[in-house]
Amino acid sequence: MSHVVSGGDLIAATSIQTLKGVGERVAAKLAARGLLTLQDLWFHLPLRYEDRTAILPIRQLQPGVPAQVEGTVEAVERGFRFRPVLRVAIGDASGATLVLRFFHFRAAQVAQFKVGSRVRCYGTPKPGQHGLEIIHPSYRLLADGEAGVLGDSLDPIYPAVDGVGPAVLRKLIMQALDRLPADERLEILPASLLQEQPWPSLREALLTLHRPGPGTDLAALAAGRHPAQQRLIIEELLAHHLSLRRQRIALQRHRAPALRGKGTLAAKLLATLPFQLTAAQQRVFKQIQQDLKRPSPMLRLVQGDVGSGKTVVAALAAMLAVEAGKQVALAAPTELLAEQHLANLRNWLQPLGIEVAWLAGKVTGKARTQVLEQVRSGQVQVVVGTHALMQEAVVFHDLALAIVDEQHRFGVQQRLALRDKGALAGSVPHQLVMTATPIPRTLAMAAYADLDVSAIDELPPGRTPVQTVALNGQRRPELVERIRAACAEGRQAYWVCTLIDDSDEVIAQAAQTTYEQLAAALPELRIALVHGRMKANEKQATMRAFKQGEHDLLVATTVIEVGVDVPNASLMIVENAERLGLAQLHQLRGRVGRGAVASNCVLLYQSPLSMMAKQRLATMRETNDGFIIAEKDLELRGPGELLGTRQTGLASLRVADLQRDAGWLPLVQALAERLLAESPPLADRIVDRWVGSAARYAAA
Ligand code: ADP
Ligand code: MG
Repeated sequence: MSHVVSGGDLIAATSIQTLKGVGERVAAKLAARGLLTLQDLWFHLPLRYEDRTAILPIRQLQPGVPAQVEGTVEAVERGFRFRPVLRVAIGDASGATLVLRFFHFRAAQVAQFKVGSRVRCYGTPKPGQHGLEIIHPSYRLLADGEAGVLGDSLDPIYPAVDGVGPAVLRKLIMQALDRLPADERLEILPASLLQEQPWPSLREALLTLHRPGPGTDLAALAAGRHPAQQRLIIEELLAHHLSLRRQRIALQRHRAPALRGKGTLAAKLLATLPFQLTAAQQRVFKQIQQDLKRPSPMLRLVQGDVGSGKTVVAALAAMLAVEAGKQVALAAPTELLAEQHLANLRNWLQPLGIEVAWLAGKVTGKARTQVLEQVRSGQVQVVVGTHALMQEAVVFHDLALAIVDEQHRFGVQQRLALRDKGALAGSVPHQLVMTATPIPRTLAMAAYADLDVSAIDELPPGRTPVQTVALNGQRRPELVERIRAACAEGRQAYWVCTLIDDSDEVIAQAAQTTYEQLAAALPELRIALVHGRMKANEKQATMRAFKQGEHDLLVATTVIEVGVDVPNASLMIVENAERLGLAQLHQLRGRVGRGAVASNCVLLYQSPLSMMAKQRLATMRETNDGFIIAEKDLELRGPGELLGTRQTGLASLRVADLQRDAGWLPLVQALAERLLAESPPLADRIVDRWVGSAARYAAA
């Protein structure tokens, strides 16, 4: 990859150790926070600002509005009421008095405040017993006759760096800014673009953000709407977008087996299914079929709400590879889920004469050797399994399609490990990743610019939407009757325990207690318990038995969350639902309503509810649509948590905030197209600046 390195980039990459006052110790502390170069300091932006450019008459102070004042000490009172307190009253020419109140102070401090001495202080006034007061202001005593210069810019307050004091950090950043190169050496965005937009140059933007002059619009800064911020936000979003695009382009340079069969096997499978595909399933399968015909690798994410029928679409895609005489791997994050896929695939494929091999951690010894050999020789074409599929010992004869279910539970590295198992040198398999965690469109655009996204946005017909109610925890006893009624009709129920404390042990204990209470109240039912402290095989055995109808009620912790398909279960009870996020609640609720029978979900909560919890529960009551829930989740929580940090670099955004700034994404996308077409080397420099060169070699 060719790079244009300008003088500006060299300065940017200069080590922090070249700054005055940075020795080994400070350098190590800064490095621990990811601050290594001058540029890292340029981009270490203030969290907020303090305005010490003016002095406000005390009379004009307003509660809640931070300000700087200067006054003469009128009285000092040291008291002790419940705890030590120091109160200093100051007054100024405006004739008003302000109280400075300290709870932590040293004797030397008390001695400083003499009646008649002058103090300058900064803080946020609050109504106190005798007019306004500032608790723990930052302050400075002025010497006799000292005029006390005023700052000519707002004071930046930086995100703290462990082990480096705020004053030192600020000095270092100011030094780094003094070395900011001139505009033309720093600017990467093409001049033509900058002329079209109302943004300042990068240099100007950085200077404004680090040292805003008096009169800067603080409200705009706090809201992220200041043109200087927008300039940086756009460039950062652009960098992330370009980085993903570049990974995609790199992937596209590889070859992949073009699967151009007639689709006879897929048609056969369709003919044997006891149902018709929904329109959404058909559409997504067609998209996949088109992708697979190309000689370059597919990388497609299929989003589909719980129960939307992703598995059968994956099976149809697998048929295209099998028909071409090639291999398919299907990986799921847990053994139980993988087993479910195995059962489904065997059920569908064996009648067509296609063997399905099984590879999980449990498969050991001779059985394992045998499966590995069958996979290596190409004797089996379809293999289902867990992480075990991604291990080094697994070698494929000719892997054409790698399918990963619930991909967010795997790391990028694991997905890549499977991808790298393509047989022929220079060729990689097509990748199909599936998720039941829908991602809002705006976010998908930013987070997944490196893959194609399809949505199965329709449930198979005949499902009755789950009825959801939220009940105060005090009504817990009523639920015993509901469970009794559901099970009397031959249905099954889940009772999910969660707790404030997230230690496995405490939750397991609570689940155990609930289990015992329910067992005592419902002696006629067969009740089982699963929790995270149980051994994996015990858990699986219990879940399996529940699935086979051997238990009526399953008391569980959130370990049952993902993907388990028990169509006969029709009642889901979630305790302390206010503790769970929307995505998790939606996943849990998705365990019921999988058959034709009407299902119910009861969300038990402890009051008082926070605003957020109220909104979450209301959302759950109002809709069953995973996409709407995801949008709401984004609104309530922000994107970082929604996407998780493992699969995207988005968690590391420095200036941009995906939720606040999502409106810019269409522009960012257009800019990316333009930059890639007009000047790929500039695109590389932008990525290097913001995302780092490491990203280039990471995921694809
Ligand atoms: P998910 O998308 O959550 O992985 P599954 O693939 O497990 O969903 O499908 C859920 C259930 O719906 C399965 O029992 C599956 O056989 C069934 N199913 C899938 N597609 C259809 C369809 N078009 N019509 C009826 N049932 C379907
Ligand atoms: Mg599934």
